[in-house]
Parts: sequence; structure tokens; C-alpha cells
Amino acid sequence: MEKTYKDYADFLKGYFPGKMQKLTVDAGFSCPNRDGTVGRGGCTYCNNASFSPLEHMQRASVAEQLEAGKSFFGKKYPDMRYLAYFQSYTSTHGDREKLMSLYSEALSVDKVDGIVIGTRPDCVDASLLHALAHIGKPVFMEYGAESSHNKTLEAVNRCHTWEKTLEAVHMTVDAGLPAGLHFIMGLPGETTDMMLETVRRAALLPISTVKFHQLQIIKGTRMARSLESGEDLGVTLFTVDEYIALCSRIVSILKSLNPSVAIERFTSSAPSDLLIAPRWGLKNYQFTHLLHRAL
Ligand code: SF4
Repeated sequence: MEKTYKDYADFLKGYFPGKMQKLTVDAGFSCPNRDGTVGRGGCTYCNNASFSPLEHMQRASVAEQLEAGKSFFGKKYPDMRYLAYFQSYTSTHGDREKLMSLYSEALSVDKVDGIVIGTRPDCVDASLLHALAHIGKPVFMEYGAESSHNKTLEAVNRCHTWEKTLEAVHMTVDAGLPAGLHFIMGLPGETTDMMLETVRRAALLPISTVKFHQLQIIKGTRMARSLESGEDLGVTLFTVDEYIALCSRIVSILKSLNPSVAIERFTSSAPSDLLIAPRWGLKNYQFTHLLHRAL
């Protein structure tokens, strides 16, 4: 099915000649919105259970995790090259030397040609970004912006503002690194117009990539508990058709305002045993297929 927008594979072609696979690594970072650095309790949609210290103690090294990922994909695709994806928690939160040594460990693994670092916009500074820009291989920064509306960010206890996102994007680009943003559609109190306003604001920034996902209610979260107790949070739990309609509008805004921004994904699928709603029963690629048909 033909796609009508720039996707992540198109974006990566600008950096690497062949096919790339992202390998997620959990390097044992924590979260400044839980340990008191910027807040406590975490974002209301985030699952507390994933912060178990035991899980951290049992983790394999970054290199071991990458080797395991390579051997999984390498069987089917021997020529595949890889990006180490520091996705879990806040991947720039910690001692600077330790952070740099974990990133370098990933880049020293054979066939790992770059790293992707997922973090909060209030958890980077110019000196870290400068060091990353000189690490020797491509580095891609991804910031969880989630919304451009400070009222929403406050409602989900995000503990940072949209202005922090703007600052992080500009600092990243000034350091010579590509910046990506992540947004959640359906957060408390947001109308469709507010969600699309966020897309418009993002399109006007010097970002390279953007990711979206539908709000999911996950077991063990503060949001799940509030909803179970009957609180009206004003969230939107999209049906597949409603979300396809929203994503079609997102694509058309990005194409008209900034077609050079690559859309990496539109959905996320939490593990079935943790997901309360919405339960679409679709894999991410199945949703994308439906969206491409609609587009
Ligand atoms: S969503 Fe990210 S910033 Fe928020 S509590 Fe979870 S790990 Fe921390």
C-alpha cells in the first residue's frame, strides 16, 4: 500500500545506506518525575509496576542486550544494521560519565551504527548534547512532549511545560543533532482542536521526526484508579475509526506545514495483560495499513 507521507524508514535513508532495526535497551535509568528531582508519583498514565528495583537488578548489560537483539534479527536478516534505542524511563537522567559510558558501550557493539535516546525535554542540557554530537556516530534525540498545552501537562502531572520542549528542541538542533517529539492523543481535557493545535505547533519546529500514540489506560496507573473510582477525567479513548480520522488530519497538517518531518508511528500497543482500554485487538502495522487505505 502506497504511503503518502515521509516515514521513519525514509528519514533513516538520509543517514544509512541499508536497512536499520532499532534494538531497545534498558540501561537501568530511573525517572526524575518519580525520584523527586522534578516531581513525585510520575505521570498519571505511566505504570508504576515497571519501576521495580528488582527488575533493575536482574538486567543484562547494554552490550549483552544488543547482542541478544542482533542474534534474533540476524537469523532472518543477516545484512541488517542496528540502532541502539535507549527507550526505558528517562535515558539522560543520571551521572554524566556513566551516561556517556553506556552510550559508548552501545556504539562499540558490532553492527550498531547509531543510538536513539528517549528522554524528557527537561532532562538535557547544552553540554550533554554537545558531547553526544561528538560521540562519533549518529545520535537521534527523542523527547516526550506529550502535549503542547500546559494545562494538560499539569493534569497528567508531567512536571514540565511546553516551553521546556521548545527549549530542548532548539538546544538539540543547535548542537547539530536531529530532534524528535512524542505526543499522546486523548489526554485529559483535550478536544480534537487542541490535539490538532499541538500538531500544528510541532510542525512549526525544526524537528526531524514525530511519533504519536493513542491514550491507553494501563493497569496500576493513577489514571486507571481515577477512572475506576468514577472520576470524569475528560480523556478520549478512541475507537479505531475515530483514531484513523484523527491521524488522517494529522498527516494532512504535517504535509502542508512541514513535509520534511518524518512520522515514525501513530499507535502504541501496551501488553494485553496490562491494557484496560481501548482494546482494539490490532497490531501497530495493522493500524498503519488501515490508515494508509483511508489516506
Ligand atoms: S512517563 Fe516517563 S516521565 Fe512520566 S513517570 Fe513514566 S517514565 Fe517518568
